Amino acid sequence: MKSAGIHHVTAIAGPAARNLDFYTRVLGLALVKKTVNFDDPSAYHLYFGDAAGAPGTIVTFFPFEHAAPGRVGVGEVEEIMLAVPAASLGFWSHRLIEKGVEHGGIEKRFSESVLPFKDPDGMRLSFVATAAEPANGPAAGAAGDDAAIPSDSAILGIHGVSLLIEEEAPTAAILTDVFGFDKEGTDGSRHRYTSGAAIGGIVDLHAVGGFLKPRPGRGSVHHLAFRAANDADQAAMTAKLSGEHGREVTEQKDRKYFRSVYFREPGHVLFEIATDAPGFAVDEPAGALGAGLMLPDQYEPLRERIEATLPEL
Ligand code: ZN
Repeated sequence: MKSAGIHHVTAIAGPAARNLDFYTRVLGLALVKKTVNFDDPSAYHLYFGDAAGAPGTIVTFFPFEHAAPGRVGVGEVEEIMLAVPAASLGFWSHRLIEKGVEHGGIEKRFSESVLPFKDPDGMRLSFVATAAEPANGPAAGAAGDDAAIPSDSAILGIHGVSLLIEEEAPTAAILTDVFGFDKEGTDGSRHRYTSGAAIGGIVDLHAVGGFLKPRPGRGSVHHLAFRAANDADQAAMTAKLSGEHGREVTEQKDRKYFRSVYFREPGHVLFEIATDAPGFAVDEPAGALGAGLMLPDQYEPLRERIEATLPEL
């Protein structure tokens, strides 16, 4: 039992069309799945990632047309770091300027070059120059629709995430004991934990002491999902969480593309454990992911009404 690292990150967005445009046309990710929020089918759930929808490359959104802006605070994912080829930071720096994306200057963290920026909803992201290789061809494979992103600059997947928390130790105990991460080092108030995976293998604990609580809204990360190889691995992690760490874990929920359990880690960030199987090709051909509006069985009879409610994409 050891998590291979991050499976996906899910956030709240504003207008769906703007969200789709930014992640596919500006960043060059593939739309891996277009479905609805399983708990509220009047809203989309959009999944972006590499062309195959591999775990560790997936960023997903619940877009709401009139969502109020969120505010980042303690007990939340503060930033999603995206891995890009080491030589491509200059390309991305130019692209952010060209597309009018709010961004900072290149900085060093843990000896890596990091280019922070924000999506149109104010969500914090960064490009991190890495030596990682794409697992399934470049993420921008599907963004052949935007020839402006050369394949040797395409996003490789999630490099890691940074969590804003009060203190390091309680969250670190979950990362190391339940998910099998190891501490790699400390840079200022950031403590880095790694799973060893080339993609999605890093969680930085940014320990800031007492600080504002987050206000959920657009631009806020909703939860962070870790990978489980299968149901048995997930069950072993769940048993450890409730038996040895006093965490209350939900029952397993069928998310169609993976099976999930959820819990609050001690630093208040909502964590999920998602199985790698069955994956995104369960209801669409692997070569045409994201092509149609896919509904779970319980909503298929309501398709006409749901399609009429959802904003045009
Ligand atoms: Zn999730």
